[in-house]
Amino acid sequence: ALKTGIVGLPNVGKSTLFNAVSTSAKAQASNYRFCTIDPNTGLVDVPDNRLYQLAEIVKPNKVVPTQIEIVDIAGLVKGASKGEGLGNKFLGNIREVDAIIHVVRCFEDENVLREEGAINPVSDKEIIDTELQLKDLESVEKKIQKIAKQARVGGDPLAKIELDILERVKSWLEQGKNVRQLGLVKEELPAIADLFLLTIKPTLYVANVDEPSMHTGNKYSEMLQKVADEEGAEMIILNNSIEAQIAELEDADDKAMFMEEYKMTEPGLNRLLRSAYKLLNLATYFTAGVQEVRAWTIEKGWKAPQAASVIHTDFEKGFIKAEVISFDDRIKYVTEAACKEAGRLRIEGKEYIVNDGDVMHFRFNV
Ligand code: GDP
Repeated sequence: ALKTGIVGLPNVGKSTLFNAVSTSAKAQASNYRFCTIDPNTGLVDVPDNRLYQLAEIVKPNKVVPTQIEIVDIAGLVKGASKGEGLGNKFLGNIREVDAIIHVVRCFEDENVLREEGAINPVSDKEIIDTELQLKDLESVEKKIQKIAKQARVGGDPLAKIELDILERVKSWLEQGKNVRQLGLVKEELPAIADLFLLTIKPTLYVANVDEPSMHTGNKYSEMLQKVADEEGAEMIILNNSIEAQIAELEDADDKAMFMEEYKMTEPGLNRLLRSAYKLLNLATYFTAGVQEVRAWTIEKGWKAPQAASVIHTDFEKGFIKAEVISFDDRIKYVTEAACKEAGRLRIEGKEYIVNDGDVMHFRFNV
């Protein structure tokens, strides 16, 4: 599964959020499963309404959502890039994730310790950014030293091109910017692929607000929204404490009543998990049989045989063809037979690029 990491300064509500995700899944009334890998890591279902719409018409024995891995990366502080407070260990944890969920404190509470003075989500965010940028700078500089020699001594033209890209990344980082915004094109990425840069990872911001602002946001979340917009990044507003409280409720009716009291139509966690999934730039296809209705994760642009390999590795080699119905048609015509009659069931071959929402049935040789 793809991996997301929760980062942020201490006491901004990271653990509260992580615990809400893990506790919520344990409760009986839960919409999703959570499987603990270690105290800070777990696998969680991605809530996708389409899956339940399909289940409603297919009425299968089992409904199986797709999952993402989520890690609570605590301990990132100012000076982490210089090894402050086990900083290097935490930065190493970030290196392993595919996307970052950056929690920023947008609530006032005298009882929650804060070392940075008045609440300021923008400078908080910058503190974390700076640590990641410094670490990236270190990686880039190391590689520049190595490549520069090759470019000079051997006059290696490829090394010169790489060097040029690395220098651009370096000066970008020196301006206090994240590499994901540099707009490197696909052909340029191999020059830095081996560095596993931290600031190139897609990032979602979570403005952790207090209860009165949970639907509207507040002046702090507005400050954060502005910088997120400038970055072209997504931000969601959550109240992590409320999420934790919802998660604690075992009984479905209690849960529903609590959410009604707070005028919530669904737990905010659903929004979080959906946004995190979107951030990973993934697509979902479905299989819909009476045994199970299930969501499968692929990368956008994958062809049918590769998509089939997610179900079973043998499916890719033995792939013959796929029967495909779009999600909308599957819902509209209710039965597969009706889809077929309406000419909405397509037979696709090896070159077919799977669309998000496709309902697939693979034919293969074993
Ligand atoms: P972490 O260090 O980022 O993991 O922060 P924690 O999740 O441990 O939260 C630190 C403290 O802030 C705890 O006492 C939480 O109860 C509290 N806290 C978390 N979220 C909120 C919130 O939305 N509002 C308020 N008032 N307190 C919160």
